[in-house]
Amino acid sequence: MTTLSSAPAHSHASKLPVEIKQTKLLINGVWQNAVSGKTFETLNPATGDVIAKVAEGDKADVDKAVAAARHAFDKGPWKKMNARERGKILYRLADLVEKNIEELAKLESLDNGKPLADARAADLPLAIDCYRYYAGWADKIEGKTIPINGNFFCYTRHEPVGVVGQIIPWNFPILMQSWKLGPALATGCTVVLKPAEQTPLTALRIGELAMEAGLPEGVLNIIPGYGETAGAAISEHMDVDKVAFTGSTEVGKLIMQAAARSNLKRVTLELGGKSPNIVFADSDLDAAVEGAFFALFFNQGQCCCAGSRLFVEGSIHDKFVEKLHARTKKQKVGDPFAADTTQGPQVSQEQFDRVMSFIKSGKDQGATLLHGGNRVGDKGYFIEPTIFTDVQDNHKIAQEEIFGPVLSVIRFNSVEEVIERGNKNMYGLAAAVWTRDIKKAHRLAAELKAGTVWVNCYDVFDAAAPFGGFKMSGIGRELGEYALRNYTEIKTVTVAL
Ligand code: ADP
Repeated sequence: MTTLSSAPAHSHASKLPVEIKQTKLLINGVWQNAVSGKTFETLNPATGDVIAKVAEGDKADVDKAVAAARHAFDKGPWKKMNARERGKILYRLADLVEKNIEELAKLESLDNGKPLADARAADLPLAIDCYRYYAGWADKIEGKTIPINGNFFCYTRHEPVGVVGQIIPWNFPILMQSWKLGPALATGCTVVLKPAEQTPLTALRIGELAMEAGLPEGVLNIIPGYGETAGAAISEHMDVDKVAFTGSTEVGKLIMQAAARSNLKRVTLELGGKSPNIVFADSDLDAAVEGAFFALFFNQGQCCCAGSRLFVEGSIHDKFVEKLHARTKKQKVGDPFAADTTQGPQVSQEQFDRVMSFIKSGKDQGATLLHGGNRVGDKGYFIEPTIFTDVQDNHKIAQEEIFGPVLSVIRFNSVEEVIERGNKNMYGLAAAVWTRDIKKAHRLAAELKAGTVWVNCYDVFDAAAPFGGFKMSGIGRELGEYALRNYTEIKTVTVAL
């Protein structure tokens, strides 16, 4: 929805649980309106009400932001600064995010719909940790000296790749921003970042904190706006050296095509998933039930690594399903700001409709609806936690990413069979195995085609542990030392002696 910016930034200020401090674009250290003057509305998913009108960046704004980032990269103080100073700025940013944790958690919950308790306990601490982790890397990015034939001195320099475009999704806005900004700033790149149109508010507030932390002007530019306009302008831009994207596989392909059409910019993609979560009869059943529930229903099912294909070994299937059902009945769907809420609304009407259409397809294709399947309430985008059993591999709900609170339980009978069926999907983001048999655990860890395999746990994330996809779940790894590779070019220098 696009309107001209004549109204005040936020018309419901008095009713909001947190103040909206920033709704403009950040370009070259200056908060400003879009060149077009346009704004777009960001909605509260719990009510459908407008939270705020946000400046709507477009190609003209992306051009300005890229020019600022280019100047900051080539001519600004960022490049000349000691690496340790860059680290200090990132440490200060981590401290500032921590200092404002309550405000940011509320803002995230308001804009995204996730329970405030989850934002406080998961999103914010993980993001703070990520900034600190990469702050520590800033002065440890080292090349090698290489013994080559002849009388030469050969060494490599790991140089920042340059101006990077970063396009982030709406499911973990603060956390995905930290995964992207951490390694980019630690390596000395400059950034043009576009938050998702559904959830622009926390990215802008963190932009303010980054400026307060001492980031030189032009190093971080933030352009809220739509994917087809601002996002496409970033991925098409001839002066963007690299683009990092998290989102759908469909858009990931568009970004790669845009990179290929323009300047062959480097591309890293973190895309969809349909992760197998495999429970063997010899597992700790109660832990596996809790793990299976969390693996799917955390964050309203809006996780790229959600354990959405739950394979349960035949001999324990019925008992497991009974326990899972009992656990699901305890889920409390409601106001994200209420202390006892464990599941909030889906992020948008579009996502709500999409999830409901998957539920319909599950019923139509003959899966058994064990629990849920309905809308909750009559405003906002709430959906009951939903479980289907008797799901077959060829059902749509077993093949496509739903990105909502819909779990498919699938029966299996042998190790060989579950490895084959687990791998039979275009995605390969994550997988999990629940067993007490160490040999089985390591065999599956080796044979499952996924970027992450969790054994007797799920969704364990750490800033130091790389994350990313096999197959159509993406290209490259985020987090850990591996992510630094995305933001550096290797230069070989050979000196005749
Ligand atoms: P979803 O379908 O879950 O909303 P998307 O992949 O569409 O996920 O969105 C993830 C991010 O990609 C958002 O910031 C969105 O604006 C952006 N985006 C969407 N379409 C494009 C595009 N054609 N080019 C670049 N970015 C895009």
